[in-house]
Amino acid sequence: MPFTSLGLSPALLRAVSAHGYLAPTPVQAAAIPATLQGRDVLGCAQTGSGKTAAFALPLLQHLESAPQHSPRRALVLVLVPTRELCTQVGEEIRKLALHLPRPLKVAMVFGGVSINPQMMRLRGGTDVVVATPGRLLDLVAHNALSLGSVATLVLDEADRLLDLGFAEELARLLTLLPPKRQNLFFSATFPAAVQALAQSLLHEPVRIEVLPTSQSLPDITQRAIAVDAGRRTQLLRHLIGQHQWRRVLVFVATKHAAEIVADKLRKARIYAEPFHGELSQGKRTQVLADFKASRLKVVVATDVAARGLDIAQLPVVVNYDLPRSAVDYLHRIGRTARAGESGVAVSFVSADTEAHFRLIEKRQHLSLPLEQIEGFEPVQTAAEVAPSGGGIKGKRPSKKDKLRQAARLGADAAPATGAASKT
Ligand code: AMP
Repeated sequence: MPFTSLGLSPALLRAVSAHGYLAPTPVQAAAIPATLQGRDVLGCAQTGSGKTAAFALPLLQHLESAPQHSPRRALVLVLVPTRELCTQVGEEIRKLALHLPRPLKVAMVFGGVSINPQMMRLRGGTDVVVATPGRLLDLVAHNALSLGSVATLVLDEADRLLDLGFAEELARLLTLLPPKRQNLFFSATFPAAVQALAQSLLHEPVRIEVLPTSQSLPDITQRAIAVDAGRRTQLLRHLIGQHQWRRVLVFVATKHAAEIVADKLRKARIYAEPFHGELSQGKRTQVLADFKASRLKVVVATDVAARGLDIAQLPVVVNYDLPRSAVDYLHRIGRTARAGESGVAVSFVSADTEAHFRLIEKRQHLSLPLEQIEGFEPVQTAAEVAPSGGGIKGKRPSKKDKLRQAARLGADAAPATGAASKT
């Protein structure tokens, strides 16, 4: 199906072809006509499916014929869970709006940076505001923006919004919106809380489902490599050298591990930086910009980077620590093979995390051979490894176990907490 059959205006068709998009993705083909008709949409789509343009194109078309925004008011509100996603979505909307007959104003507002410039920018009003919930509420409290003219609400990554504890802010924001509006609701997963929110928010929505299974990511080669927890950094260095990986996103379980693994890589002359929620916004932006511009080879990140980030030409994702859940696994590996490219996702599996990995595999309907790399064959067995935080159920760690564990922690960065730690 070509873009021309979706009912988009000439200006937007120009923008789409300037972007090099040849045909709509499945979520775009389904969401664009429904949104143009003014329907509410409930989209189950994973990141990388093209969902930003799926909601941005029709709402830009509505704005083409909408009256000019008034001071301190916004016509479209896009709520996103993270600062990075805010910038990414805002920039994509701006690009798609480039050829519209009147210049549109798209404001991006998020926390972690000074509020004053954002207040100044909103003074004249805005067509679109892309926001994280907390900062948006602050701006409303400062009378910098009223949400009383919002005609369209987009909730992007609704599951993540709730995961990150935004439920209360969301509920407060919803009371500030006019009751009559169009709602576009996107989420990669639909746990009970997300379903309840969707039900309370949407009016006879058009349901769109792009199945979130790893089989629907055909261009990602998934690998599992068995390695002792204490040798993961060495193995990572080996793989980077052997495969000449240009750009690698490495996921770890904790901020501490992100710092230490990045540090170890730098000491081995591999230019790496950590990326986690405790870094300043300036630092996070800098790391991403350096990574995207290939000034950085490796980013070692917590799950803060797992959702929504769009890094073109990211050939490799490594699960140094396994993710907590099958859904997180999907989000992490979805950072590679974006927009029709191919990619590799490697998971390091050690004796104490193998059972957890098998569970992820089962939930993702996967069956990966557990590879061994010459020189890195694991020697530890599950019985020998006492995971931190109490050891294997039913087995108290012996003195020898504790000594082994201490040696392992000293030898490597991240304690082998596997999936349990918070980011
Ligand atoms: P998203 O799911 O919105 O994060 O989009 C993922 C990536 O797909 C982004 O790099 C988009 O620029 C790209 N993209 C979106 N729509 C299309 C399309 N119709 N054809 C090719 N690439 C697209």
